[in-house]
Amino acid sequence: SLSDRLGGVFDRLRGRGALTEADVRTAMREVRVALLEADVALPVARQFVDKVTEEAVGQNVLRSVTPGQQVVKIVNDALVEMLGADASELDLSVTPPAVVMMVGLQGSGKTTTTAKIAKRLAAGVGGRDRKKVLMASLDVNRPNAQEQLATLGTQVEVATLPIVPGQQPVDIARRALQAAKLQGYDVLMLDTAGRLHVDQALMDEMKAVAEIATPQEILLVVDSLTGQDAVNVAQNFSEQVPLTGVVLTRMDGDARGGAALSMRAVTGKPIKFAGTGEKMDALEAFHPSRVAGRILGMGDVVSLVERAAESIQQEDAERMTARLAKGQFDMNDLRGQLQQMRRMGGLGALAGMMPGMKKAQGALATAGGDKMLIHMDAMIGSMTVKERTKPELINAKRKIRIAKGSGTTVQEVNKLLKMHQEMSTAMKKIKKMGGLKGMMAMLG
Ligand code: GDP
Ligand code: MG
Repeated sequence: SLSDRLGGVFDRLRGRGALTEADVRTAMREVRVALLEADVALPVARQFVDKVTEEAVGQNVLRSVTPGQQVVKIVNDALVEMLGADASELDLSVTPPAVVMMVGLQGSGKTTTTAKIAKRLAAGVGGRDRKKVLMASLDVNRPNAQEQLATLGTQVEVATLPIVPGQQPVDIARRALQAAKLQGYDVLMLDTAGRLHVDQALMDEMKAVAEIATPQEILLVVDSLTGQDAVNVAQNFSEQVPLTGVVLTRMDGDARGGAALSMRAVTGKPIKFAGTGEKMDALEAFHPSRVAGRILGMGDVVSLVERAAESIQQEDAERMTARLAKGQFDMNDLRGQLQQMRRMGGLGALAGMMPGMKKAQGALATAGGDKMLIHMDAMIGSMTVKERTKPELINAKRKIRIAKGSGTTVQEVNKLLKMHQEMSTAMKKIKKMGGLKGMMAMLG
């Protein structure tokens, strides 16, 4: 663990009085690795390490702990402090209707989170008054986005604004506000459209809506799997609209918590909720101490950045073996692979692992590397749960919907399906070769 490693660094220090700058700097190199491993954006990691170095130098080493343990504690406390206070709820103390606006990139979880928060407010979670909530989708870009929210509304028993086909976002916002006022709603939740990447058209639309609706809360919804890109996302959105908070989604996945620190550092706004699943009750208050533990804990898994890729490959291989035994490799598996590849900072990591992948990767690399990975992730994000587990369902009509939903082209969807097909075939080959062990023997 990070604690053990720092213990090693500090062993020779035992019995001395205070942490010297040289000692702390040595320790901070390990901390920096741990932060980057946890997906904290580089500039944020740097800033954090500088701050903690300043704090730690000169502190007396307590008798009951080792210097290593003490540095871990200093780092942990600084993380918790930087991540912010526990459970910062929504501030809805205005003359009703209080408007809550959700913004973020496509696929970050805005629509899902809108319904989750609405459900929470309507139920009066945490001893609060039950609210009368109205939801409205302003997403006119993604096919069926408004219907998606309506469906969730039915599910959580929260009203949604009736859909008027062809109406544009600003007009929908105006109509929603009027309906909320006339019908005595306490809270109006506005779910906005996202894009694959931050773009000016999205920003202008978002600003126009914010002007009309004057939201009490503007929440930036961010996928916790966002790595180095987190800084750009946070910066771009916070420059355009006055954010009041952040929601981190997919905290149930293998996110390492780094995005939380990056978001917090760049926006300066509290993280108000954590999404922990696809179900409507999978929303929790954000707990800085838990996430700090996760960040430091993930640093425990590997000791050096160079070794990280290797170890992730192994983890991956193990997970894959388990799936293989069941003869499964669906879009969720592919997505997992793509996310690992992104996190490891590039392609090629899996090439040595799987026969049949080399060809697919050659195609990927020429198609534009990481951008392609992001697109593929978005395409899988635009698939239904069924399509993900049964990609053979994806016919021409569905391809068009997926392409539109992810801001890509049918050609790209075809490429993705082909890649999945190739990997799936490779999986079967591996099985024939006697599993991963047999394959490794052949390669080695
Ligand atoms: P939007 O494009 O930002 O509106 O994103 P959606 O709300 O449509 O969500 C995209 C996908 O992410 C859907 O399949 C959601 O079920 C899923 N999702 C959203 N939040 C979470 C979360 O906290 N955990 C998990 N596992 N999935 C989530
Ligand atoms: Mg949406």
